[in-house]
Amino acid sequence: MNATAAHYIDGRRVQSEGNATIDVIDPSDGSKFGEIARGTAADVDTAVRAARQAMGENFDGPWGGMTALQRGRLLAKLGAAVMEHHEELAQLEARDTGKALRVARNDATALARYMEYYAGACDKLHGDTLPYERGYTVLTVRVPHGVTGHIIPWNYPMQIAGRSVGASLAAGNACVVKPAEDASLSLLRLAEIATEVGFPAGALNVVTGYGKEAGAALCAHPGIDHISFTGSTMTGRSVGLAAAERHCPVTLELGGKSPQIVFADADLDAAEPVLLNAIIQNAGQTCSAGSRVLVEQSVYEEVVQRLAKRFTAVRAGTPAEDLDMGPLINEKQFRQVRDMVATAEAAGLKVAARGTVSPNASSTGYYQEAVLFRDVPHESDIAQREVFGPVLALTPFADEAEAVRLANGTDFGLVAGVWTRDGARQLRMAHKLHCGQVFVNNYGAAGGVELPFGGVKSSGFGREKGFEALLGFTTLKTIAIKHG
Ligand code: NAD
Repeated sequence: MNATAAHYIDGRRVQSEGNATIDVIDPSDGSKFGEIARGTAADVDTAVRAARQAMGENFDGPWGGMTALQRGRLLAKLGAAVMEHHEELAQLEARDTGKALRVARNDATALARYMEYYAGACDKLHGDTLPYERGYTVLTVRVPHGVTGHIIPWNYPMQIAGRSVGASLAAGNACVVKPAEDASLSLLRLAEIATEVGFPAGALNVVTGYGKEAGAALCAHPGIDHISFTGSTMTGRSVGLAAAERHCPVTLELGGKSPQIVFADADLDAAEPVLLNAIIQNAGQTCSAGSRVLVEQSVYEEVVQRLAKRFTAVRAGTPAEDLDMGPLINEKQFRQVRDMVATAEAAGLKVAARGTVSPNASSTGYYQEAVLFRDVPHESDIAQREVFGPVLALTPFADEAEAVRLANGTDFGLVAGVWTRDGARQLRMAHKLHCGQVFVNNYGAAGGVELPFGGVKSSGFGREKGFEALLGFTTLKTIAIKHG
């Protein structure tokens, strides 16, 4: 059996019922270098059954019956094993997604860190006792949902699976993961490593395949008790509808058009590299990319000049070259980004600077140079729609009120960055920005696994990361005892 052209179910590689496969493409040159299984509804059913068995009917199965301490020890072992396989996982992810090796290595470290964090959290998750009438004792307990479904996008497979699967396992659920069809390899390997360190069969299952087939089947399966979806806003809507059909709780982590707001009193030397990195990291294919920079009028020209200089120096290259960016994930994404840039230019938007593509990059790879647009009107597509590529929109603002209006003026609400030395303004802005995370004088707090993450409006709902995520992967049961 071709090892990757198989799912990982019930502690072993399992061939797809239909035997069909999907080609694995190397984004750096468009060549095929492997195959994954094209999962069907029957494969999803096999995985869900395995997960239910691991949980046990009354959560008394090989996984469902474990104590919090036992789960925590296994998660800690998994984190350590990920670090032992760190380079292997990073190389696999870099080849599969095209991302620069440095980014893939960082993702493998983050995956281990999520396991480590949630390992320590398992036995800190507890309910309360509540004051009530005399003669009663009332308590709450946190109960796992049962079997959770995880639909993962291609941009950060290890990080996103790390945060959602890590929290779900810690809370005591068994998981069925559907990675993106463009990037499944690292998660197949993760499930295998979990078995190697002692996770019971069926606790962590991976079914590969297309979203409309395996993904939709997972969302519709009556044996799935909670869905964690990370991906596009459009797909999130259909996942939300499928979940609503059968009253299944769902967490939606969707897209963004996140602003960074630079006031005239900001430390521009500190802001400059962060503004750049927030849009070129992973070639702009980051849901929380800082894709709009709003700048106070009096320092606007200076910021344009500073960023133009930086953008001109940005180089896209092969993952092994490990330059500023790798290629985009696939041909569809590549065309989409190119079309958005071309349409904006045709509409008269001004390009302040462009980066370059390495001469070593294959002409059949999906390389997109970084593009900096200036004076971007707030209503334009480049300021309103997610590009999901290394394209930054610069727009000036007159005062704080206008900054807030522009920042909040999209359908999204994922992340915002604020750059100012004025403490009162830092707090005012943090309160007025309508989004899930606000970073002041930084952006992303270096991805801290401890920090709850998620959006408002079309960026989704529910929170992942941090302790908050554990709450979402449990349901609360209230027990009231009348004892007189
Ligand atoms: P996508 O929505 O096309 O795919 C995401 C996942 O959903 C894939 O595994 C895919 O196979 C699956 N899928 C597709 N159709 C489905 C269906 N009908 N039912 C069930 N599953 C289905 O998104 P993408 O192109 O892979 O990822 C890019 C998008 O993800 C961007 O919009 C980005 O902003 C967003 N994203 C958000 C976050 C976040 O945390 N908010 C993180 C990463 C990416």
